[in-house]
Order: sequence, then C-alpha cells, then structure tokens
Amino acid sequence: MTFNELNLIEPITSAIAKEGYETPSQIQVEAIPHILEGRDILGCAQTGTGKTAAFAIPIIQRLYTGIKPAKGRLVRALVLTPTRELAAQVAESFKSYARHAKLKTTVMYGGVGQYPQVRSLKDGADILVATPGRLGDLIDQGHVNLSAVTHFVLDEADRMLDMGFIHDVKKIIDLLCENRQTLLFSATMGKSIMSFANSILTNPVQITITPKVSPLQVIDQSVYLVSKQNKVELLLHLLQDKSVESALVFSRTKHGADKLSTILNDTGINADAIHGDKSQIARQRALSKFASGKTRILVATDVAARGIDIERLPFVFNYDLPNEPESYVHRIGRTGRAGQGGTAISFCDKEEKAYLQTIQKLIKKEIPVALDNPYPASFSLEGPAATPPDPIRKNRSKDGSRNFGKKASSGRSYSGKSGAGKSYNASSHKGRKTKSYSGKTGGRKSQTASR
Ligand code: AMP
Repeated sequence: MTFNELNLIEPITSAIAKEGYETPSQIQVEAIPHILEGRDILGCAQTGTGKTAAFAIPIIQRLYTGIKPAKGRLVRALVLTPTRELAAQVAESFKSYARHAKLKTTVMYGGVGQYPQVRSLKDGADILVATPGRLGDLIDQGHVNLSAVTHFVLDEADRMLDMGFIHDVKKIIDLLCENRQTLLFSATMGKSIMSFANSILTNPVQITITPKVSPLQVIDQSVYLVSKQNKVELLLHLLQDKSVESALVFSRTKHGADKLSTILNDTGINADAIHGDKSQIARQRALSKFASGKTRILVATDVAARGIDIERLPFVFNYDLPNEPESYVHRIGRTGRAGQGGTAISFCDKEEKAYLQTIQKLIKKEIPVALDNPYPASFSLEGPAATPPDPIRKNRSKDGSRNFGKKASSGRSYSGKSGAGKSYNASSHKGRKTKSYSGKTGGRKSQTASR
C-alpha cells in the first residue's frame, strides 16, 4: 500500500513527502480510509506505530475539504493528550502535515503562561491540541469555544484515565457537537477504557495494532545488583564507556533526579533533570538539548518522561526500579523504538528485590544479572523479597527530610567540593572487569538470575 492509494489530497501528500515518509504504517493503512469516511475509531496502538499521522492526516484532509464555519475561524478539531510533552509533539505533527493546507494548529498545556495560548486561539485556529487540565481552566475562564468541534481525538486514553483526568475529559466532551467524529486511541484496552469508549463512540471501527516484534524483545536488558550507597559509583563507572553517547536515567523522586544530575555535572558528565516541579519551559529546553545531543544524560522521573519520543535513544538506565511494573515497560520502551535495538540497564538494591520480581512476572522473563559489576551487592536474588518499601516514606529521614543519596559510598567523594575538584577518578577502576555493555555486541557478560 502506498500513500497515493489512500486517496490523499496533494497538499497532504507533498507534506508527507517532505517528512520523508515513503509508505504508510499499518495503523495508517487501517485507520485513514475509515476516518476519511467519517467513522469513529477505537484504536489499540502504542506510540511508535505512526498513530499520530494515522489520525492527523485524515482529519486535516476532512477539514481542508469540508465546510468552514460561516463566521470566523473556530476550532473544528480537538485532540486531548495526557501530557504536555505529548501535546507539543502532536501539535508539531499537525503543523508539519498541514503545512500546505492553510490550517492553523494551536496548543494548550499547563506549566507555562496562559496568555500566549489564549491569544493564539483568539487569533483563530482550526486545530487545538491540549491537555485536559489547562483546557478545562481556560474553558472555565470563558476563553474557549468548542461548539464547532466536529473531530475529536482522545490520545493515550489509558494514561489519561490513570492520571485522573476523567472528569476534565467528560466536562470537555459535553461541550462538543453531538454530531461529531470521535477517535479514541489507547495502548491498553482494560475494562474501564472499554466502558468509557462505549460511552463516547458511535459504532466505532476497531483497530488493533500488535507490534510485530514486541519492543521488549529487541531491548538488551540487564540488572546490576548493587547497594543503594554504591549506585552513584556504579553509574559513573558505566558512563565511562564512551559508547554510551546519550542515556535517559530514571530516578524515583524529583529530588533524586536533581541530585543525580548535579553529581553527574560535578564529575564532568553533561546532564540535565526533568520532573514535575520544573517549569514547562525548563523541561522543553532540557528535552531539546538532550535530543540534539548537547546534553549527554537526561535524568527523569516517570511522570516527566511520559511522551518523550526521541529517535534513536540507545540507553535507558533504571537508577531506581519503579514500584509499578508497568512503568518498567514504559521506561525501557523509550529505547528500542521502531524495532531498533536498545539497551536497558537497571540497578536493584536489596529493598527493590520485590519490585524486580513483579517486573519479571509482568514481562514473563528473567532479566539477566550483569556480571561486570565492580560494586556487587552482598544480597542475592534467591529467597523471598522483603515487603516492597513505601517509595515516599523510604526516602525520608525521621524528621521528614529526604535522605536520598546522602550517604556517600566509599571514601571517594563525588560532591565536587573535595580538594581535587571533580573527584571521580576514572582510572580507579583499572583492573576491574569493565566488559562492554553496548547494545551492539550482545557480548556483555551476564547470567540469568537464579531463584
Ligand atoms: P507516533 O506513533 O505517532 O508517535 O510516530 C512515531 C514516529 O514515526 C514519528 O517520529 C513519526 O514521525 C514517524 N512516522 C509516522 N508515520 C510514518 C511513516 N509512514 N513512515 C515513516 N515514519 C513515520
């Protein structure tokens, strides 16, 4: 199947050609003809399948060829996404595909001033991409008119529900034309999604895209058993490998992310942190510096990392294991996109043993334990795990202050305050087994965790 066979108009085919797309992806082949016909869609597909173009392209075509509102330029297509980053990416995609179609896209999300967003809408927009929270606020303030919306997309509906946006979403849907086209996309189709979908879709076409190769299958996964105190040293050791050109490092807490980023910078490794306490502008800046290769390491919390789509992200580190096993899958899915291999390295301390077990249960696979570990932990994976720690309380000392990372491991300081300045000494690992863990080799020494 080619894009020509999808009966797309010239302004769109020329924009697609500019993007370098040669053939439509499976979801595009399956969804575009139905959306062009005006059908509702219930799409089960993950990010990375080309789903944005699958809904954006036919919506642009319908807006371009459809009847325009009699007066003014009113929003006719609304896309809701769970996160700011995803909203920004989806809006960029609409702008690219609609570059020759004379349609205007605007975007609204929280964390930045609302004035430019309100102005952009007042100036007239055909397509609005928004997160439900900010859109709800602006609706309450009387800045948004959704009465002309005839195309509505709910993207990543499962995350939207997980993040507690259901009421905002329902409130927004109540304001749309009853006689609209609705497209709902979700990576999973649990009971709550299905019942919500049934309440907003009319006789939808169901499309399910199962990745040919599970993304997890092409990711080289391993786990280092390490004490909490030695995690920083282990990370610094692994980052000596220059083949780790860029990596996303996951931290459980915002404070931990900041602290780790500071430590990395103090040791001469260019790093940035993104988390929910950072302004949207700071997050976008950090993301684009990371995407362009200016920053080598991006330390992120789960929430901040949602929706990150950086092409060819080769390494993901789980500095802390997530307490929800699904987060592990989301996290390591940031690498290994589009069937490309990637490497996911996890650190597991004694308290995280139970997390590792639930992750392995979910992915139905034992993650090999790395042998090239200069900081091997004194515990093994055999025997029952302790009760999983409370992720919040665990990082607080008795007075309630966070104590993440306060305990430096050995005598070697990485505070950056020592007399030696940048005190991490790469050569201190000489003689230790530092076998490459590059995703390319597959020759990394590892063993299957014994139980
Ligand atoms: P998505 O699943 O929408 O997040 O898309 C994932 C990536 O695939 C994005 O970087 C798109 O630019 C890219 N993409 C979408 N459709 C195509 C296509 N037909 N050919 C090549 N790349 C595509």
